[in-house]
Amino acid sequence: MSARILVVDDILPNVKLLEAKLTHEYYEVLTAMSGQEALDKVEAESPDMVLLDVMMPGMDGFEVCSRIKQNPATAHIPVVMVTALTDSQDKVRGLESGADDFLSKPINDTALMARVRSLVRLKMSTDEWRVRENTASQLGVVEETSTVLAQSAEKANVLIIEDQEFELKKMRETLSADHDTVMGVSSGSEAIELVKQHDFELLIVSLNLKGEDGLRLCSHLKSNERTRSIPLVMVASSDDMDRIAHGLEIGAHDYMMRPIERNELLARVRTQIRRKRFQEKLRATYEISLSMALTDSLTGLYNRRYLEVHLEKLLEKNIETKKTLAVLMIDIDHFKSVNDTYGHKAGDEVLKVFAERLKDNLRSFDLVSRLGGEEFVAILPDVSEERAHMVSERLRRAIADTPFPVSVQPEPLEITTSIGAALISQDADSVHAALERADKMLYDAKEGGRNCVVFEEKGKLDPEEFKGQIRPVIN
Ligand code: GH3
Ligand code: MG
Ligand code: MG
Repeated sequence: MSARILVVDDILPNVKLLEAKLTHEYYEVLTAMSGQEALDKVEAESPDMVLLDVMMPGMDGFEVCSRIKQNPATAHIPVVMVTALTDSQDKVRGLESGADDFLSKPINDTALMARVRSLVRLKMSTDEWRVRENTASQLGVVEETSTVLAQSAEKANVLIIEDQEFELKKMRETLSADHDTVMGVSSGSEAIELVKQHDFELLIVSLNLKGEDGLRLCSHLKSNERTRSIPLVMVASSDDMDRIAHGLEIGAHDYMMRPIERNELLARVRTQIRRKRFQEKLRATYEISLSMALTDSLTGLYNRRYLEVHLEKLLEKNIETKKTLAVLMIDIDHFKSVNDTYGHKAGDEVLKVFAERLKDNLRSFDLVSRLGGEEFVAILPDVSEERAHMVSERLRRAIADTPFPVSVQPEPLEITTSIGAALISQDADSVHAALERADKMLYDAKEGGRNCVVFEEKGKLDPEEFKGQIRPVIN
């Protein structure tokens, strides 16, 4: 993974040292020697990560970090603070100013590479969601989600896997400051049971569990579908550096060294919770935009794009299972005159009610979509000829028998519809051909006087034949 990293330090040898280490690992390195230069480069070059010295004359690292994080154009770029101080207050201040992580000088190579790798990976996945969200907001479908820092970090659901009573107690107490709901267990097997029943937002896993390998548990949680995307923080001792590196390699998000510092714990947990909630918002936004791209905004029915993709699958399945599928092409009669006489708004009202009636008179696994204008398609999978006739006639009546209310006048409008239909069985029809067959029948229905159903081969259905035969939909 080739990423571009901006190294910021006011002391040249420090810059050169980090540059050498990172270049050796095939990262592309940019450098800056002051806070202002760093901000300029972040804006102009949009690096994948910033390694930021805290102690600099003029604008210090905290200030640079909060400016990067407050600017919506750069807020997504991970910042790692590099500090000579061991004072935990500084680490916490760094994380609270929005830093994604910190490293202490002298820099441990394993820690450096592990952090860089896991943050680059995180950024890649967040970037992907941001691009999708950006498209959606450009299309005017959704508002853009703000930033990671704007997310609440309170009242999180946390699971801690730790068998040292004292440490567990300390973590519980600390997290109560944020009103988190904390569950604690002392073994991997208990954890695996609990994650099935609860939706956790963070997992804290001890790498020093007695009689079991915490790393193996991390790996399990990271490969399990239900827990894969939950942030995981490892807790370990200072001689566990290799295992921590391995943990980050397999997807753990962060780690903490014992003895656990309360402030550091709180700050790291907050960072993870905010990130998780931010990513979830991005995802939700994307899902909304996706559904909007596949449905018609006036009627809420699926649109043509969805129909085409889905019908193709249904046709394949139809052949596989040797079933018969009906395609109904449904078009409102003289709809233009509704618009011309009562206005476009009344026309829209009719379209909405029309769509509702189609849906109400089909089974939930039938597919109904609006092709455009006043033209609709219903697909009835796995249906007999007899039933397809009955359902088509039921749809025709649902429209013709009850006038449509409109807001421009008290009297509802008499509306009718014509339906053309084809039964598709073992013949390998393409989507296009299947729709065309039904469309030809629709043409015949219009020619044959409208307000009627025409089936391929069978011809126009006689409503008299269906007297007393129309059964209501059972879903
Ligand atoms: P036919 O019985 O032959 O189907 O006649 P028709 O008038 O229904 O058919 P035509 O295709 O000539 O006219 C369709 C009309 O539907 C024309 C267009 O203004 C109207 N229309 C298409 N989309 C919309 C829409 O979203 N809202 C409204 N109100 N009208 C629409
Ligand atoms: Mg029409
Ligand atoms: Mg038409």
